[in-house]
Amino acid sequence: MYCQKVCLIGASAVGKTSLVRHFVDGIFADKYLTTIGVKIDKHQVVTKQGEVQLLIWDIEGTDRFCGFNTRYLNGANAYIVVLDQSRPKSAVDALTLLSMAKDYSDAPAYLAINKSDLNGQLSQDLHAQLENAGFAQVINTSAKTGENVEQLFRSIAEQEVVR
Ligand code: GDP
Repeated sequence: MYCQKVCLIGASAVGKTSLVRHFVDGIFADKYLTTIGVKIDKHQVVTKQGEVQLLIWDIEGTDRFCGFNTRYLNGANAYIVVLDQSRPKSAVDALTLLSMAKDYSDAPAYLAINKSDLNGQLSQDLHAQLENAGFAQVINTSAKTGENVEQLFRSIAEQEVVR
């Protein structure tokens, strides 16, 4: 079995922690707890190639100036940029965070357009920018209904490992 490190970044309250909780524990909590620093979880995925241990780093953002500690991306095999489709500002932040991450890491970037259970507020223009930003995959998720949560992490577990 091999291990893959995957990081989650995104503006606060987009649903990073909820996505991890849904994937790891199968639960959705409506309570709001701000992530402090970084939280690390492990979860095994059985793929066609065998078992993969995902080491999931849920990284706190610094919202005042839209950023995060890029050093947390050290050794990452993939990272997920998360946005809340009901808050267009979080999509603009996602583009900023992607360019920060790309400056630091060559790992493939996945985009989770989260809260797909809520009304989408992203303009066509913003959608187009996100589609063309260089993500390996763009996927609509909901930590509330569970839509595509397993698939998101599974596609990372199944990707070719960048060594
Ligand atoms: P984080 O700061 O990015 O880790 O965000 P959290 O996971 O703490 O979620 C922030 C808030 O959004 C919480 O109240 C969650 O219950 C809620 N939330 C997270 N994901 C979803 C989702 O997919 N749909 C809905 N409706 N609410 C969500």
